Amino acid sequence: MNQRIVLNSRPLGLPVAENFRFEAIEIPTVKEGEVLLKTVYVSVDPYLRGRMNDSKSYVPPFQLDQPIVSGVIAEVVKSRHPNFKVGEHVLAALAWQELQTSTGDGLNRVDDSMAPLSVFLGALGMTGMTAYFGLTTIGVPKPGETLVVSGAAGAVGTMVGQIGKILGCRVVGIAGTDQKVAMLKSKFGYDEAVNYKTTLDMKAAIAKACPNGVDIYFDNVGGGISDAVLANINKYARIPVCGAISLYNATETQIGPRVEPVLVKNSALIQGFIVTNYAAKFPEALSQLGKWFKEGKIHYTETIVEGFATIPQAFIDLFSGKNEGKMIVKI
Ligand code: NAP
Repeated sequence: MNQRIVLNSRPLGLPVAENFRFEAIEIPTVKEGEVLLKTVYVSVDPYLRGRMNDSKSYVPPFQLDQPIVSGVIAEVVKSRHPNFKVGEHVLAALAWQELQTSTGDGLNRVDDSMAPLSVFLGALGMTGMTAYFGLTTIGVPKPGETLVVSGAAGAVGTMVGQIGKILGCRVVGIAGTDQKVAMLKSKFGYDEAVNYKTTLDMKAAIAKACPNGVDIYFDNVGGGISDAVLANINKYARIPVCGAISLYNATETQIGPRVEPVLVKNSALIQGFIVTNYAAKFPEALSQLGKWFKEGKIHYTETIVEGFATIPQAFIDLFSGKNEGKMIVKI
């Protein structure tokens, strides 16, 4: 018995369970030069929402009736490949499928002596790298500067704040519950945090939390939250635009304040990026993050839900903030 999850229909607005279909399929036979992989941890990520639309982006859209693919940690359970042994764990972009074969292309062996396996989907994986490169190459923090992070209690946001602190910034987070606000300050070293769901005037709240203005705004969410932060930026502010989750399910074009005058007035830089732009430097980032991790300078939190059947709902729950830190499904 083997199961996979395919895209049943393209979501309109917030994804729903009916957009996904479970299928029972054969366990594939392992040919010479292949391995059989058993899925252990599945990463669910906001960017997958974009791939569910039939539109041009930096990665091709998912096809209807075809499996969804995301970051997966899998165990090699059969090997006819010279480079992979049974029992090893690998990280790769793989199908939402319990058992699948691979030729070995794109499989990265995971060194679980460094950290628990799941951490390679988060703090020491794609979202950790995203935080590292977005902040260091576009944000370019200097000691004493004020860094504001939206989506602060999520996978990327918890890492951005900690890296910002290591690099000497005053760090202010924005998140959607009081519990997350408390966690940012107690566990992740944030100096201040604001609950955007209970704050009526976000522009004033950011001004209060940032008495010296905002030098770097690491934007994970876009929309009204970002409008409020942009109203508080300093001269030469840098704005790495990492994500815009508040807009991913929008069915109509969203219009907000025009940003150009604010950027001109402050000689500010705003730049979108995709983590894979920095693929050539991933080993460098992993080495730096791993060092901070070993030194106890970086902490992580995960929301782990269990069971293959929970994958679609875990993904949907990202859009209502059910996760703290990285959202992961354990199979
Ligand atoms: P995450 O932050 O762990 O999870 C998503 C979080 O977004 C939720 O927990 C929720 O927290 C918040 N959220 C959901 N709907 C929102 C809304 N309407 N307004 C404000 N916040 C909302 O996810 P992640 O993997 O770390 O990704 C964070 C962002 O970075 C996403 O936009 C993602 O697309 C982007 N990203 C970009 C790259 C890249 O290469 N550029 C790579 C990875 C991720 P609250 O409780 O605080 O609402």
